[in-house]
Amino acid sequence: MTLPVAETWFNATRLDDHTTLIIEPHIHVLEQANMFLVEGSERDMILDTGMGVIPLKPYLDTLRRDPGKEIICVSSHTHIDHIGAVHEFDTRLVHPAEAAEMARPSGLTTLFRRDMPERLLQTFLDAGYPPIGETLIEALPHAGYDPETYRLRGAHATGLLSHGDTVDLGDRSYQVLHLPGHSPGGIGLFEAATGVLFAADAIYDGPLIFEGPGMSVPDYRATFALLKTLPVTTVHGGHDPSFDRARMLEIIAEYEALWDAA
Ligand SMILES: [Zn+2]
Ligand SMILES: [Zn+2]
Repeated sequence: MTLPVAETWFNATRLDDHTTLIIEPHIHVLEQANMFLVEGSERDMILDTGMGVIPLKPYLDTLRRDPGKEIICVSSHTHIDHIGAVHEFDTRLVHPAEAAEMARPSGLTTLFRRDMPERLLQTFLDAGYPPIGETLIEALPHAGYDPETYRLRGAHATGLLSHGDTVDLGDRSYQVLHLPGHSPGGIGLFEAATGVLFAADAIYDGPLIFEGPGMSVPDYRATFALLKTLPVTTVHGGHDPSFDRARMLEIIAEYEALWDAA
C-alpha cells in the first residue's frame, strides 16, 4: 500500500467570531466528521474529536485565542470518527447511554476496511457513500506512519450530559438535547439565544445512517419530531456543511417519506 504524505492533517474554518470548524480532509468522506471548537469567556469547548490519527489538542491550542483557558470535551456520540482524541482532554462529557462505549470502544477500532463488517459496508454504499479503499485514511499524517499502529483508545467519562442539562461556557450556554436514532446516546447542543443547533449525526446534509448496531428508526422519528419544534436558525451537523431551518425540514421530510414507504 502506498499512500501520499499529507501536507497538513487538519483543516480549520472560522464560522463566526467564536466557532471554528475542524476536519481531517484525508479521512474517507464516510468517517470525515466535523469537530467544532467554541470559544467562551470562561472556558472553551471541543465538540467531537475526529479519528485520533495524530494528536488534536496541540493543534487546537494553535487556534485558540487563549490556549491557557480551560477546555472541555463533549462527545456527541461514540462512533470512531467522533471520539478519536477524547483521551487527550481532562474533562470528557458524554450521554450516560454511551459512557461505557466511550470507555471501552466495541465497534470499529482500526483504520482498515477488512475490520468493517460486510453488512455495515453495504449499509454505507446503500446510503450513497463511495466505496472505501484498503484504509480509512487516504494520506499518511507524516512519512513513515504505519496505519497498523492505530487503535481507537476511548476514555472514561469525567461527567455525564443528559437531556435538559446545560453546557456553560460563560458568555454562551447550550442546552443538551437527547437525539437518539443514529446512536442510543446521541446528543445535540442548542443555543436558545441564537437558534444555533449542533446536531452531530442526528441530522446533517448528507446520507444519514439509521441501520446498524444501536440505531433505531422509531427513535429517529421521535428525534425529528423534537427538532421540528425547535426555533433553529443554523444547524451545524456532524458531517458536511452547515444549513438553515428550511433545509433541516427538507432533510427530515425526505427521511420520513423514506421510512413511511418502507
Ligand atoms: Zn459521524
Ligand atoms: Zn455517527
